[in-house]
Amino acid sequence: MIPAAFDYHAPTSVEEALRLLAESGDDVKVLAGGQSLLPVLKLRLAAPEVVVDLGRIDALRGVREDGEALVIGAMTPHHEVASDPLVQQHALLLREATRTVADPQVRHRGTFGGALAHADPAGDLLAPCLALDAEFVIAGQGGTRTVAAADFFQDYFTTAIDDGEILTGVRVPKHTGWRAHYEKFSRVAQQWSIVAIAVTLRSEGGTISEARVALTNMGTVPIRATAAEQALAGVAATPEAVAQAVAGIAEGTEPPSDLNGDADYRRHLATVLARRAVLAAAG
Ligand SMILES: Cc1cc2nc3c(=O)[nH]c(=O)nc-3n(C[C@H](O)[C@H](O)[C@H](O)COP(=O)(O)OP(=O)(O)OC[C@H]3O[C@@H](n4cnc5c(N)ncnc54)[C@H](O)[C@@H]3O)c2cc1C
Repeated sequence: MIPAAFDYHAPTSVEEALRLLAESGDDVKVLAGGQSLLPVLKLRLAAPEVVVDLGRIDALRGVREDGEALVIGAMTPHHEVASDPLVQQHALLLREATRTVADPQVRHRGTFGGALAHADPAGDLLAPCLALDAEFVIAGQGGTRTVAAADFFQDYFTTAIDDGEILTGVRVPKHTGWRAHYEKFSRVAQQWSIVAIAVTLRSEGGTISEARVALTNMGTVPIRATAAEQALAGVAATPEAVAQAVAGIAEGTEPPSDLNGDADYRRHLATVLARRAVLAAAG
């Protein structure tokens, strides 16, 4: 339970952090809230020689408006995202999903960027970012680049962040006034999703006009349900009509089979949760 010894650095700027990463070679790890990394170090599943802690870089923390988008700093803790008025107004889906993450202790230490960089397929923030067409801002010594959510999540625990790079923030296009719901199914309270469905939508007079839907833990990366989105447009928000529109939502998915449920069970679950999520979002 005690990590192997490492050199510890706590830079106060992104530039300093990038320089430290470049100087430290391959055997370096970035530390954010430590909620995923510290257990890995304590179990000695990783033993980096250097740890670069981003916790003192104030510029990486907070939520701000930037024209038609919100920018959420990578080091913003989950509880700040969940309680931020801008997030509530312009990206309600993120608030709904973040509120389901773990327990209050983890939500106070764990960070938005850390959870996304970690890219656990069962993590609850990946699918909402995909549904909202978020863009990931990645800084390296060569400058800054922006990667669309669809390209950011590449595989099981693998993202577009390269060695020597840092995720500095996420740009989330404003979905002002859109309703949202995150329907999460887990066996034990305050744990990762066995399956979850992220939905945000606009509706008028009981009819869904536009919907964005994405699936958590139905594959190695979050999945955007574009066919269901199209099927939902123009549909009355009734149980029967919504059930029909999302009936095929699990088609073609390859969810994991484990002690929590096999792939067929998860596909069935996704269909049930999708109906519930859309109806809840539609109010
Ligand atoms: C008991 C428990 C229950 C949990 N339940 C849930 C849950 O229900 N749903 C859920 O979604 N999550 C859950 N989590 C995970 C939680 O959301 C963590 O916050 C998250 O996985 C990691 O965030 P962190 O800030 O702690 O990152 P860290 O643990 O510090 O880092 C995680 C990884 O990301 C890398 N990294 C971090 N920040 C950056 C960055 N800015 N740039 C580049 N790389 C970076 C690190 O090098 C490391 O590899 C749970 C965790 C615990 C301990």
